[in-house]
Amino acid sequence: MKTKIVVTVGPAIDSEDMLRRMIEQGVRIFRLNFSHGDRPYFETIIARLKKLEAAMDVSLSLLQDLSGPKIRIGEIADAPWDVYKDDLICMGLPGGQKVLESTGQNLPTLRWIDLDQPRMLEVLEPGDTVTLSDGGLQFRVQEKLDARTALLQAANAGLLSSKKGVAFPGKVSPLPAFTPKDRMDLAYGLELGVNVVALSFVQDAEDIRSLINEMERLGYRVPVIAKLERKNAVENLEEILELVDGVMVARGDLGLECPLASLPGLQKEIITACNQAGKPVIVATQMLLSMVDNPMPTRAEITDVANAIHDGTDCVMLSEETAIGAHPVDTVRTMQDIGLEAERFGANHRRGPKAPRDQSDPAWFLAYAACLLAEKAKVRALVAHSISGATIRHLSACRPEQPIYALSPDYPARQFLNFSKGVLPCSIKEQLSDHLDRTEYFVDSSRDFATGEAVVITAGQPKPRQERVATNLVKIYVK
Ligand code: PGA
Ligand code: MN
Repeated sequence: MKTKIVVTVGPAIDSEDMLRRMIEQGVRIFRLNFSHGDRPYFETIIARLKKLEAAMDVSLSLLQDLSGPKIRIGEIADAPWDVYKDDLICMGLPGGQKVLESTGQNLPTLRWIDLDQPRMLEVLEPGDTVTLSDGGLQFRVQEKLDARTALLQAANAGLLSSKKGVAFPGKVSPLPAFTPKDRMDLAYGLELGVNVVALSFVQDAEDIRSLINEMERLGYRVPVIAKLERKNAVENLEEILELVDGVMVARGDLGLECPLASLPGLQKEIITACNQAGKPVIVATQMLLSMVDNPMPTRAEITDVANAIHDGTDCVMLSEETAIGAHPVDTVRTMQDIGLEAERFGANHRRGPKAPRDQSDPAWFLAYAACLLAEKAKVRALVAHSISGATIRHLSACRPEQPIYALSPDYPARQFLNFSKGVLPCSIKEQLSDHLDRTEYFVDSSRDFATGEAVVITAGQPKPRQERVATNLVKIYVK
């Protein structure tokens, strides 16, 4: 299938045997969720993946997912609490209750929720919404009892237990996305060999800038993915897209920050923007969630995966399904079945490759021309030589019907090309210095192509004594 699958590593697939099965099934992108697990755990997993990568001669993407400032409430005494509609509850700093009482305020009848986030508490205003228990409980700020204590009124009934995630929908957070924990995780992740980094709860380009600066300070520069899970991130998508290499539609937290019913529209908007920018996009969370327990997904889940593909996503992601699910292998297989069917449907309804929109760089039009040629000449494949991978992302963004064989001598470039729809990263022999020769040699020696079969090639042909040049050639080649 052309659409790529991202699997989240967890106890269900973290043995060498299970990771091998995932690779055998075609999985190339492994998400390491740094919200769970410690250094020895990731060290073991990364070592296993690196070993399998070499043994199985594939390029794997090890995606480090940094936790970001996910906010949780503290321990709750005598949990769980029954909360009824219109109940009043205080939210403030740990120990804040005593401070308030000492100022003469009498709160003995009110229950207290600890929130160890002074800056967030400070920006809360009467009328703001606060959601707890993954959105199950909604509150409205009725008044501020002091600068860091909010009196909340429940908008619905539910159960509340300790350490639950809390969201402040639509609120601009004073906390930067790149946290001190992320800084530590990034340093050892890079040291262990992660090759793509995702940042959670991004709000603007500044958050991405901080991550890139830190990476460069450590002497690395691997591709960066912005997880869009805040309302203002969607509003700032254009500036974020200029800096990042890819995007994740992180529907779990995005669905807490924005009205749930707006999610399908936001997903389409984000995917379209990424497609037009030529940057890979991942649709994530609850894609086949019921398969955590059941061998079969629901009709709604199947439709959701297919629709994400119809919307134009590059990748679909599995979270709990592969991290802790009872049927990880079946889940990946199910996703592939849905993907193949969705892509077949798409192929029957498409009208040729997509023309670049709002682009002025000729590289885009060269890629588009190659895709048009491949379509009209009915060739088997596009075979592209690219050092940075940029041309290949342009080709992928035109969404050609043919597979794109991505020949790059650059290992990190190949690893990131795993994220682009329809792209098959291939390593090549560097003995031949001429890029066109290399590409033709690849076609001639690959068992994927029969004698007499035609492909469209793109490559950069430097002038004599020129070291390197951007892609400047499109050619039909018959084996
Ligand atoms: P998470 O991110 O699984 O790390 O929370 C994805 C999401 O919020 O959808
Ligand atoms: Mn999230």
